[in-house]
Amino acid sequence: MTTKINFNGVISENLSISFYDHGFLFGDSVYEVVATHKNRPCFLYPHLQRLHNSADGISLNIPWSTDRFAEELQRTLQEAGNPESYIRIIVTRGEGAVDIDPSSCTQPNVIIYVSAEKKYPAELYMSGVNLAVVSVKRNARDALNPGIKTGNYLNNILAVVEANRMGAHDAVMLNANGDLAESTTSNLFFAHNGTLFTPALGCGILAGITRSMVMQLAQENGISVEEGSLPVEALISADEVFITGTIKRVMPVTRIDNKIVGEGRPGPLSQKMMRLYGDVLESEIPYDPAFKLQF
Ligand code: PLP
Repeated sequence: MTTKINFNGVISENLSISFYDHGFLFGDSVYEVVATHKNRPCFLYPHLQRLHNSADGISLNIPWSTDRFAEELQRTLQEAGNPESYIRIIVTRGEGAVDIDPSSCTQPNVIIYVSAEKKYPAELYMSGVNLAVVSVKRNARDALNPGIKTGNYLNNILAVVEANRMGAHDAVMLNANGDLAESTTSNLFFAHNGTLFTPALGCGILAGITRSMVMQLAQENGISVEEGSLPVEALISADEVFITGTIKRVMPVTRIDNKIVGEGRPGPLSQKMMRLYGDVLESEIPYDPAFKLQF
């Protein structure tokens, strides 16, 4: 199991980043986490689409084309030689003056980190996880828009710290209106009477790639999905709750604020979505360049 880091096209086992890189100084960077299946990067095209969207959102020019990313990623995966990999792609503002104004940064740094696969323990998919509704609100869309995946995650770090203090695995974050937003690194879904509900992108959330795939799969399988502004009470009284993310995939939630959700175990819809998503990973869909995200 090895780790390889590709820094602007040069692959090595380690990386020291300059103190003057604004990614380090100010969290001025964008990033993506990509999983593999049979060591092929899953959903690489929507991840790169979102990376570019994030970069546009902070007026950062990404120096590499999609083809260059795909080639460099392939090279880095090959050099690491793991059976399955965890991939983190980061583009930082680059080196500049010790001043938040990015105009002194002329050359963004592109980093591809490849390590052994990260997986959540299998027990969690059977028992479900415990979430806490925290007081830290998701950023407003007209502040640091949650639709932009930047290296500045402090707001979500505060939320997960609060959730941990409350004895939960992760947080449920609300938006400034008090409606449901998302968890700190995953999107929220819940079910009432066989219908799935998920906060709309307009509530101020990241456009999750897993979220998109799960919505598509639900619809293809005759399960209706409603997106909207949703109150926290609807989550707490749900029959089932699950969260979605690249590494988590579809993770059942069985307790919220230490109260049992539904029957207290992963429900039939959660299990169905876990299975359907697992089947997708075995198919050619994650490699389809036509898979596009809505932002
Ligand atoms: N929401 C936030 C804030 C995230 O950081 C992530 C993943 O990094 C997600 C949702 C899930 O997105 P995806 O399914 O694309 O991994």
